[in-house]
Amino acid sequence: MEKIKCLVIGSGPAGYTAAIYASRAGLNPVVYAGPEPGGQLMLTTDVENFPGYPDGVLGPQMMEDFKKQAERMGAEVRHEVITKVDFSGDVHLITTEMGHEIEAESVIIATGASAKWLGLESEQRLMNKGVSACAVCDGFFFRDQVVALVGGGDTAAEEALYLSKIVKKVYMIVRRDELRASKIMQKRVMESDKIEIVWNTQIKEILGDQFVEGVKLINTKENTEKEIELAAVFVAIGHKPNTDLFKEYLEMDDQGYLITEKSSMKTNVEGVFACGDVQDKVYRQAVTAAGTGCMAALDAERYLAEKGA
Ligand code: NDP
Repeated sequence: MEKIKCLVIGSGPAGYTAAIYASRAGLNPVVYAGPEPGGQLMLTTDVENFPGYPDGVLGPQMMEDFKKQAERMGAEVRHEVITKVDFSGDVHLITTEMGHEIEAESVIIATGASAKWLGLESEQRLMNKGVSACAVCDGFFFRDQVVALVGGGDTAAEEALYLSKIVKKVYMIVRRDELRASKIMQKRVMESDKIEIVWNTQIKEILGDQFVEGVKLINTKENTEKEIELAAVFVAIGHKPNTDLFKEYLEMDDQGYLITEKSSMKTNVEGVFACGDVQDKVYRQAVTAAGTGCMAALDAERYLAEKGA
């Protein structure tokens, strides 16, 4: 069985930042890149809000830079998926899809969260061509244009309000006749003269050939359809943290996000740390994920030092 001092699961900004710090601390980290190497940033185009890139950078390019930096510091990146963990003992046992078995003294979980999508063919086809799951990332590109935003939760409300400061108009497409968002967020949305809520409605199809040109909507209460011309569709119907693998061992909230101890990245299992979107449903930014990746590596370093490893 292979022995690893610091195993990082996941290869988004959190995982690679953890690997950079763990490498520099001499922990010889091994990163398992997982089923979506690079994470959610691989699905975005220009990133303009990550400090250090004054001219912006493409999401996939930025993740390539993260990877290069981690490797230059000495991290080993493996393109394999972990299929089983056993956190019941002092040393953590990990099995990969190829059946490779590892004993890890510390584990940093950075498996992220995946945006939920509507599941339409047109949504897939126009991804990054006006279809986005991140208003903060992509809203800027639709300045003074008309856009749609799907969802009625806190994220949708927050993103609709964010967009309302940039775009000409936001159609907020809500599938029921009420919002799930907190009262305060509902009030803010209702008070915005740039946001029009379209109740009891779902998107039947996103229209456009090369890029988004409109949406075909269906009012499920009245069973009527209509089309609206617009330039972008933001999907904000929730995220799913990638934590199924850890259910048996780690404390999670009711939505499956890992719970970390206050002011640290420690989970309830000694030597197992979590960082990035897998434990953050509020901020979800590359820069915050990177910050918590740094914290997790520093926590792992301290843990191993105290253990005398
Ligand atoms: P939620 O699960 O709370 O809301 C998802 C929304 O999307 C609901 O309105 C839901 O409708 C709708 N929806 C789900 N699936 C579909 C679909 N297929 N088609 C159309 N609409 C759909 O997710 P959020 O991401 O908004 O929030 C997750 C958690 O994070 C919540 O606990 C929230 O409070 C929290 N949060 C807190 C923030 C803060 O404190 N600042 C900011 C953002 C999130 P329906 O209501 O009909 O199910």
